Amino acid sequence: MLSIRGLCVEVEGKSILRGLDLEIDAGEVHTIMGPNGSGKSTLAHVLVGHPGYDVKGGEVRYRGRDLLALDVEQRAAAGLFLAFQYPVEIPGVSNIQFLKSALNSLRKQRAESELDALEFLDTVKARMQQMQMDEALLYRGVNEGFSGGEKKSNEILQMLVLEPQLAILDETDSGLDIDALKRIAAGINAFRREDRALILVTHYQRLLDHVRPDFVHVLQDGRIGRSGGPELALELEQSGYGRAVPGETGHD
Ligand code: ADP
Ligand code: MG
Ligand code: MG
Repeated sequence: MLSIRGLCVEVEGKSILRGLDLEIDAGEVHTIMGPNGSGKSTLAHVLVGHPGYDVKGGEVRYRGRDLLALDVEQRAAAGLFLAFQYPVEIPGVSNIQFLKSALNSLRKQRAESELDALEFLDTVKARMQQMQMDEALLYRGVNEGFSGGEKKSNEILQMLVLEPQLAILDETDSGLDIDALKRIAAGINAFRREDRALILVTHYQRLLDHVRPDFVHVLQDGRIGRSGGPELALELEQSGYGRAVPGETGHD
């Protein structure tokens, strides 16, 4: 599904990713861990085509295509999705309207017909029930005044409604209490399928108690420094990353 070879990325002239390799097959869940500032969000943003990241080298193939040659809309239409570390508020656009136009725009690019409005509403509400979300959130501005947990659930709701093939979740578990974490995990597990893949960027092992990954990778010094199974996350929880990144402390 995704093959990254020797990816080098600069942000504002600073080298962040330095020859990163990663292979992801359909059906797999990969966790990316690593110190603050190691480039996890940079990787996520580069994959979805966020501006401001300069790709200096390497190759990214996504379902047989040269991903880096596609623009943001083409990548979304090709089934790529990013749940942001810091979800944006869109005051004045209701959540339901946003979901509907995002999905219809994807369908249009895929030459599929518009959705039936009632069918759409039923689907969205069923998804919200899976995560015990309050339906009132549909009729408020996107993320406007949402709590931290509601914003993160809303990102997962978008993922469940848009049904991407490869979803990247950037610290979707950060700042959640245990009940919110379980609801998010239920949404993520509902998304898992043989023909889909997930990249979970996280600082914490605790999400992995609820969503079991196939692989755990550590991003360090601009590359995947170590890879293993779920036990690697447990080990990191005990021993840390082994070295501090200068100027970065704590979690964000
Ligand atoms: P992580 O998600 O692993 O904490 P990031 O990818 O957010 O790390 O950041 C990697 C490095 O790139 C950090 O040193 C950060 O300060 C820098 N960086 C990220 N985005 C920007 C930006 N827009 N402008 C300047 N520096 C940035
Ligand atoms: Mg960070
Ligand atoms: Mg980050």
